Amino acid sequence: MIPGSFEYFSPQTLPEAVTLLQRYGEDAKVLAGGHSLIPLMKLRLAAPRYLVDLSRIDGLTYIRESEGFLRVGALTRHGDIETSDVIRSGYPLLADAARVIADPLVRNMGTVGGSLAHADPAGDWGAALLAAGAHVVATGPRGGRTIPLDEFFVGTFTTALQPDEILTEIGIPQSQKNSGGAYLKLERKVGDFAIAAVGVGLLLSSTGACEQVGIGLCNVGPTSLRAGQAEQVLRGKKPDDATIARAAETAATESDPADDLRGPADYKRDMVRVLTARALRLAVGRAKGGA
Ligand SMILES: Cc1cc2nc3c(=O)[nH]c(=O)nc-3n(C[C@H](O)[C@H](O)[C@H](O)COP(=O)(O)OP(=O)(O)OC[C@H]3O[C@@H](n4cnc5c(N)ncnc54)[C@H](O)[C@@H]3O)c2cc1C
Repeated sequence: MIPGSFEYFSPQTLPEAVTLLQRYGEDAKVLAGGHSLIPLMKLRLAAPRYLVDLSRIDGLTYIRESEGFLRVGALTRHGDIETSDVIRSGYPLLADAARVIADPLVRNMGTVGGSLAHADPAGDWGAALLAAGAHVVATGPRGGRTIPLDEFFVGTFTTALQPDEILTEIGIPQSQKNSGGAYLKLERKVGDFAIAAVGVGLLLSSTGACEQVGIGLCNVGPTSLRAGQAEQVLRGKKPDDATIARAAETAATESDPADDLRGPADYKRDMVRVLTARALRLAVGRAKGGA
């Protein structure tokens, strides 16, 4: 349970951090909250020779709305999101997700950027932010580039980030009147990773039809998944019971869970159906001004 030896750097600026990543390439790893990387290093499943700690870099922790987006700095901790007034008042999908990640100890250390960069299919932010239609900003030697979250997860524990890029910001379309969302997670016990979880973000038109809808699935595939066909079932339609049931069944068929200690694949697929229907009903209620 003791990691291999490594050299530790604590840069004070983003350019310094990027320069270190450029210099050491695949031998270097960024350290954020350390709640995924350090356990892996202790188990010797990861053995970076160089650690570049981001925690002393100013300006990577924030939650603010600007130019049509909610912007969240990559070093923002799960707990900061859980307690943010901006999130609580306008982003129920994110508020729901933040409060079901692990336990308060992990939420006080783990960061949203670290969770996305880690790309664990069981990570709650992947599914929640896919549902929210988010993008990320990656900063490297060539400056910053925007990556839609749909293109970010390229495999289990693998993302579109280059070895010399740092995830610096997450952007989420700003909440509007008649928008709503929800994140529902089924877990074996409080603090555990999901058996299955579903995030929903939607915008209702003036006639009550689904103008925009996003559905993200957690821990039921090799990556966080977007249930695009289920979204298609809802798009332009009123979310009545029959349409919600059809979308939920479609989301279940789009999931790709594995049998494991958290349950057999068929059970998880059915839980995707149940959670999708419930999350849709909750999101619709919130979009209409309910709790
Ligand atoms: C007991 C326990 C229970 C947990 N339960 C849950 C849960 O229920 N749901 C859930 O979603 N998560 C859970 N987690 C994971 C937790 O949320 C982690 O904190 C999170 O996944 C990683 O964030 P971090 O800031 O700790 O990243 P780190 O551990 O510091 O880094 C993780 C990886 O991302 C890379 N990285 C980090 N930040 C950046 C960046 N800005 N740019 C580029 N690369 C970066 C690192 O190099 C590393 O490869 C749990 C963890 C523990 C220990």
